[in-house]
Amino acid sequence: MRHDAIVIGGSFAGLSAAMQLARANRRVCVIDSGSPRNRFAVESHGFFGRDGARPGQMIDDARRQLAVYPGVSFVDGEAIQAGADEGGYAVTLVGGARLLARKLMLAFGLEDLLPDLPGLAERWGQTVLHCPYCHGYEFLDRPQGVLNILPISIHQAEVIRDWGPTVYFLNGGPMPDDAACAGLAARNVTLEAAPVVGLEGKAPHIAGVRLADGRLVEIAVLYLATPTRLRSAIAEQLGCAFEDGPFGKVIATDAARMTSVPGVYAAGDIARVPQNATFASADGVQAGMSVHQALIFQGT
Ligand SMILES: Cc1cc2nc3c(=O)[nH]c(=O)nc-3n(C[C@H](O)[C@H](O)[C@H](O)COP(=O)(O)OP(=O)(O)OC[C@H]3O[C@@H](n4cnc5c(N)ncnc54)[C@H](O)[C@@H]3O)c2cc1C
Repeated sequence: MRHDAIVIGGSFAGLSAAMQLARANRRVCVIDSGSPRNRFAVESHGFFGRDGARPGQMIDDARRQLAVYPGVSFVDGEAIQAGADEGGYAVTLVGGARLLARKLMLAFGLEDLLPDLPGLAERWGQTVLHCPYCHGYEFLDRPQGVLNILPISIHQAEVIRDWGPTVYFLNGGPMPDDAACAGLAARNVTLEAAPVVGLEGKAPHIAGVRLADGRLVEIAVLYLATPTRLRSAIAEQLGCAFEDGPFGKVIATDAARMTSVPGVYAAGDIARVPQNATFASADGVQAGMSVHQALIFQGT
């Protein structure tokens, strides 16, 4: 059977897109490998009507609501290849199964590339965080740390100061220029130049950051601006154009969320900055509607 659309990635963006197509009575197949980006967090925050919900519960609820529509099918698995086929697209799964569709929607998310620092990975999503709007309120007025990783890290330190007293760990990186140091001082952010050797305390709690010179700087939460990588090579296989973002490359799309490849759409973290669950869902809604209208007006 040829689907009207295949959605690769069934999380905030992909399921939101599929819902629009389902409600237009179209045949949509959602392929999902079951590991959304926020799976490390206990609670999700800031999503309209769902503040504090368990991330997995939000996905389960969306899937259950979608499954009611007769045109929707789910494949629990991983897509490994996609290309043009018979005027539409073919998607190959791990194991070799091949699915066909008239339109293709990419929503396979990003992977966070964490620094290799002892004590960091096991705290990711709990006391080591990427976004204060998502989880900062839970650490309000407690000592905050920001680790220098990317050029945007210094800006992150200036913002985090609104949640509590903040130390910016330069981690042995080059000293910021005078204007940047003045910006940190204006926000009352403390600059700590020494290299960081690890996080201490009983995880996920943080007792402090251990520096190479032996000192322990007490903090309750550490923020990172993580470099990111696309979860799948399928956008490259299809020949999609990319844009450079502050954390890594993202797929370029137009206002309808179509990529540079006609008939291929992209939504969610892979195709935008800034990134959060609400933005991903909203982009998915836009992409779903765009795919539907393309099915009507552009044929194939
Ligand atoms: C630790 C952490 C906590 C966060 N907390 C919040 C929060 O509280 N509030 C908030 O708004 N945002 C939060 N975010 C951001 C949020 O997780 C993302 O913005 C959101 O998940 C993006 O949705 P998405 O649908 O684009 O991608 P994802 O949610 O990452 O989903 C992508 C899906 O595609 C699947 N997939 C990947 N490759 C393939 C493939 N080849 N074949 C099939 N399926 C595939 C994955 O398994 C996954 O299910 C958090 C992020 C992190 C890292």
